[in-house]
Amino acid sequence: MQIYKVGGAIRDRLLGKPVTDIDWVVVGATTEEMLAKGFRPVGADFPVFLHPKSGEEYALARTERKSGRGYGGFTFHASPEVTLEEDLIRRDLTINAMAEDDQQNLTDPYHGQRDLEARLLRHVSPAFAEDPLRVLRVARFAARYAELGFTVAPETLELMRQLSESGELEALTAERSWKEISRALMEDQPQVFIEVLRECGALKVLMPEVDALFGVPQPEAHHPEIDTGVHTLSVLEQAAQHKQPLTVRWACLLHDLGKGLTPEEEWPRHIAHEHTGLKLIKAVNERFKAPKDCQELALLVGKYHTHGHRALELKASTLLELLQSFDVYRRPQRFEEFIAACEMDARGRKGLEQRSYPQADYLRGAATAARSVAVQPLLEKGFNGPELGEAIKRERLKALKVYKENASA
Ligand code: ATP
Ligand code: MG
Repeated sequence: MQIYKVGGAIRDRLLGKPVTDIDWVVVGATTEEMLAKGFRPVGADFPVFLHPKSGEEYALARTERKSGRGYGGFTFHASPEVTLEEDLIRRDLTINAMAEDDQQNLTDPYHGQRDLEARLLRHVSPAFAEDPLRVLRVARFAARYAELGFTVAPETLELMRQLSESGELEALTAERSWKEISRALMEDQPQVFIEVLRECGALKVLMPEVDALFGVPQPEAHHPEIDTGVHTLSVLEQAAQHKQPLTVRWACLLHDLGKGLTPEEEWPRHIAHEHTGLKLIKAVNERFKAPKDCQELALLVGKYHTHGHRALELKASTLLELLQSFDVYRRPQRFEEFIAACEMDARGRKGLEQRSYPQADYLRGAATAARSVAVQPLLEKGFNGPELGEAIKRERLKALKVYKENASA
C-alpha cells in the first residue's frame, strides 16, 4: 500500500500556513489490511480509519457517485484498484486535490499549485455539483483566504449558482450546514462567507432573512452606510476583528433581521424591528439547529440591542428589567456577550468603527450594582417565597437608582 498526505495539509504548507490536522489517503489497500495494521474504523460503511497512535484520519482511496438527493444519496467505491488520481478528482477544489508522498513528491493532476499561485478557488471537475455542501465549503475557504487575495473562479461561481437554483441546497442536513457555517463565522473575515453565498444565490435559499436585508435603507444620520445588509456584514467584520466568540458572531449576523420586514412606506425607519425580528431569528436558529447558547444569545441580542445602545438614558426600572431578562446574577458571561454584540453593532457603521462605546462600561456597572444587593439581610428580616423575590427586586431597583445618580453626577 502507498500512503499520501492529502488535502488541507498540502495546501496550507504550500501557502506557508500552519498545518493543524493531517488527512491521509491510502492507495492499494483493503479494509482487512488496515484492520490488521491496528487502524480503527470510523464508521460502519465508510472506508475511513484512525491511526492507532496519532489518531489522524486515513481514508482508502475511493470514487464516489451520486445516486440520489441529499448526502445519503452517495455511493462509495473503495478498492485497492482505485488510483490516487481517481481519488483526487472527487474532491472539491483544485487546491484541496493535491497529494504528497513521504519524500514530499507532489501529485497535482488538477493544477492545484497553479491555482494557489493564481489565488483561485476552482472546482476540480463537474462532479463538484454532486454535493451541495461544497457551495458552503467554497464560501468558507473564500472567507479564510480572503486576506491572501483568493477569489472564487468565475466558472466555479457559476456552478455554485446553478446548484443554488436547483433546490439541492435544501437537501442539506442542519448538522452539515451548521458545521460549515460555524467554522466560517470563526474565520478572520466571516463577512466574505456571507458575501460569496449571496453572490451565488445560496444566501437566498439558506438564510432568506439575511438576504432580504440587502437593499433595505436605514437613516443616514445613524447609519452612514445606509444599507442594512452592508451594515450586517460590517458588524460581523467587527466581531471577527475583536475576536468575539461564535455566540456573539451568530447574534451579530441575526440582530437586525426585523428590518427586512419593515413596509417600504416606513423606510428608512424601522419601528419595533427588535420585536418583529424575533420570529425570524427563531426560524434561522431552528433551521440550522444552532447550539443552545447561540440560539439564546441571538434572540436576546435581537430583542434588546437597542436597549444596549440607549443604556445611559434607560430608567432604573428598565435597566432592572434588562438585567432580569438576562438573569445576569447567574449568567454574567451571557450579559458580557450581549454587551459585546451591542458594541460590535455600534462599531459596524461606516466611519464609526473607532468610536468609543461608553454604554459597555455603564451596563457592566449596572450589573455590578444590581448584583451587590445581598439576600441574607432580607432573609433575616423574615422575607420568604414570592415576597422575598419582590424585596430583592426593590433593593436592586434602589441600587440602580443610586448607580444612575452617581453616574450622571
Ligand atoms: P481544513 O483546514 O478546514 O481542515 P481541509 O481541506 O483539510 O481544510 P477537510 O474538511 O478536513 O478540509 O477535508 C479534507 C479534504 O477532503 C479536503 O481538502 C478535500 O480534498 C476533501 N473534502 C472534504 N469534504 C469534501 C466535500 N464535501 N466534497 C469534496 N471534497 C471534500
Ligand atoms: Mg482537514
